[in-house]
Amino acid sequence: MTGLTSIAIHGGAGTILKGSLTPELEVLYLAALKKAAQVGNAILRNGGSSIDAVVAAVVELEDCPLFNAGKGAVFNHLGQHELDASIMEGKTLDAGAVCGVRHVRNPILLARAVMEKSDHVILSGEGAEMFAKALSLPFEDDAYFYTEERYRQWQKLRGTEVFEMDHTPDGRNKMGTVGAVALDMSGNLAAATSTGGMTNKKYGRIGDTPVIGAGTYANNTTCAVSCTGHGELFIRSVVAYDISCLMSYKGLSLKQACDIVVMDKLVSIQGEGGLIAVDAAGNIEMPFNSEGMYRGSIDQNGKEFYGIYKL
Ligand code: ASP
Repeated sequence: MTGLTSIAIHGGAGTILKGSLTPELEVLYLAALKKAAQVGNAILRNGGSSIDAVVAAVVELEDCPLFNAGKGAVFNHLGQHELDASIMEGKTLDAGAVCGVRHVRNPILLARAVMEKSDHVILSGEGAEMFAKALSLPFEDDAYFYTEERYRQWQKLRGTEVFEMDHTPDGRNKMGTVGAVALDMSGNLAAATSTGGMTNKKYGRIGDTPVIGAGTYANNTTCAVSCTGHGELFIRSVVAYDISCLMSYKGLSLKQACDIVVMDKLVSIQGEGGLIAVDAAGNIEMPFNSEGMYRGSIDQNGKEFYGIYKL
């Protein structure tokens, strides 16, 4: 029992330039980030588990239409919403993930159920939906997931072979995957990530988000990591696990490991994006190599930070 708690959350990384968001929208984003971080932090401060904290924070972000996860997810090439999510517990190395699920209101709850109530790590598509129905998890119709902004982004790419992170050329470029990482009072780390993936994705494309070790990873001896960015490059770089490996095999600090992976290795293959991470001592890192990343944290001293752009 360390008594220390830390939490960090993200709402996606991308080309979010200063001035590209209206002041009103900026306020909305920052308020949504704050709400999610505080919901997770309250659980930690009351002695709750890091798993409960990251799930609560991600559910909050999935329910918010501003982010590309749950409500507000991007459209695939058929005009549908296909959702990916994963979760991992640092104490046991238990993990659960779902990919390509439709109509499931909170994919992170389903990922958690895969971890806790099945013998498997990843369930996909219809099978994952059947599992969700058997557990009576909430489902929603297409209208629930619809947002005008995402529809407009898809119209730009509809009928083309191009798939994009959910950005627009008018300066409001952004990705919107969401995630949370936390350390609880018992010294247990956890990470969770959820996304709608990339606009106009086809052929059942799956990104890094539900891939344990790529988009999400947690190990009590090192750190918990949740990523956002161009999924293909994050899978090829095994980003989240690489950070943990650099800490355990090379003895690097969380900051050193994050710098190498995000600012060096990913940059060298044009892997745009970022991540949030917390280590076993409660240190928080939120590096990104894109223009911006929606992010927030509440550290062991209760100090809160919320940001969108580079500092
Ligand atoms: N990493 C997500 C994916 O490739 C996208 C994102 O983070 O915006 O599916």
